[in-house]
Amino acid sequence: MSLVTHLSCVQCGKTVADAWTCPACGPDEGILDIHFDYARAKATLTRAALATRTRSHWRYRELLPLEDAFCPADGYIGWTPLVEAPRLATALGVARIRLKDDGRNASASFKDRASSVGVQHALQAGAREIACASTGNAASSLAHCAAAAGLACNIFVPQTVPEGKLAQLLAYGARVFKVKGPYDLAYDLCGKACARFGWYNRNCAINPYLVEGKKTGGLEVAEQCADDPPDWVAVSVGDGCTIAGIAKGLASMKAVGIVSWSTRVLGVQAAGVAPILAAMTTNRLDRAAGGTTYADSINCPVPRNWRKAVNAVRDSNGAMVAVTDEQIMESVRVTGRLSGVFAEPAAATAVAGIAEARRKGIIEAKASVVAMITGNGLKDISGALRAVGKPHEIAPEIGEVARIVESA
Ligand SMILES: *Cc1c(COP(=O)(O)O)cnc(C)c1O
Repeated sequence: MSLVTHLSCVQCGKTVADAWTCPACGPDEGILDIHFDYARAKATLTRAALATRTRSHWRYRELLPLEDAFCPADGYIGWTPLVEAPRLATALGVARIRLKDDGRNASASFKDRASSVGVQHALQAGAREIACASTGNAASSLAHCAAAAGLACNIFVPQTVPEGKLAQLLAYGARVFKVKGPYDLAYDLCGKACARFGWYNRNCAINPYLVEGKKTGGLEVAEQCADDPPDWVAVSVGDGCTIAGIAKGLASMKAVGIVSWSTRVLGVQAAGVAPILAAMTTNRLDRAAGGTTYADSINCPVPRNWRKAVNAVRDSNGAMVAVTDEQIMESVRVTGRLSGVFAEPAAATAVAGIAEARRKGIIEAKASVVAMITGNGLKDISGALRAVGKPHEIAPEIGEVARIVESA
């Protein structure tokens, strides 16, 4: 049996019966949060129990919003490694950095955590088809999880979707609608299609169950660092669901007594599109701010989960910073070169944010940090190539090799 006790609205705080958004606050602001019975979770979710469980995110079944029959006993998403990166730490000016490499998930992004829970929840709800609107990773991840579970999948993407992500969608057999117009229109169209055809809506913004999947990223960081806690966990921020989920996961592990510490969360936005950073001070969302960034996965001018993100940062005594596209490109390069982890631009943004927070004195030189690497660099080859430079074009002659080696 699931240990969900109730859902509440993040805007007005009231308990809401099983719905996707708060009827009083509406679908734009009335995002819901799911509450669990931590006292009961604590009885079975222990360090000893965890030691015997599946090495996937399904190991946290007490803290997932799924009935037993729909929570798989085994799997292959999550339980990604923490990569120790001492040379990167030196370059960033911190004592220690560990990279949580979620680019190693099945469809190569953090979104697999949410999509897999979404697919199980859809099956539990009796859905036959599932849908989402996405600029990339949420879509390719959903297409993967749906194909693996045998659920039909419908995807709405904007014209700007990177080719690698589009190829994944088609390879996993999704029905892909490439919508003429900006992402917002693709998003609205997806909602209309779900209403009309009875499809399960995987859009993270309005579907509170998905954030619970993202929460597993935080649960894992807490468990993997249980006896060696970081001072900060850095997360890139687009819609705000990822940072909200990770912060909730970190806090939940304290609530159930697996760890006794809490850690601070650093949210990182792209300077070109930073409405959540602005909302940290204004406490409201400027829906007309607009803007754009090269890091396509966090290019969200009208973030749906801004309030959850702001709360996550505040509740952890954390901070939020913004970094320019140049800083993001630089961090794609240094992360690859100094740690061996190839991060997509939106993932490298977390690393860029650590450097920025150091410069601003928010993070201290003696700090130990974890950076969430939310997506693999192979996802967006043209984006990566803009950051990492060009090969040496040469004739097949040793003299040409020597010329380059000796001039280096
Ligand atoms: C989706 C995504 C993010 C940000 O998640 P939000 O919930 O939109 O804030 C960061 N990095 C990558 C690679 C993503 O795909």
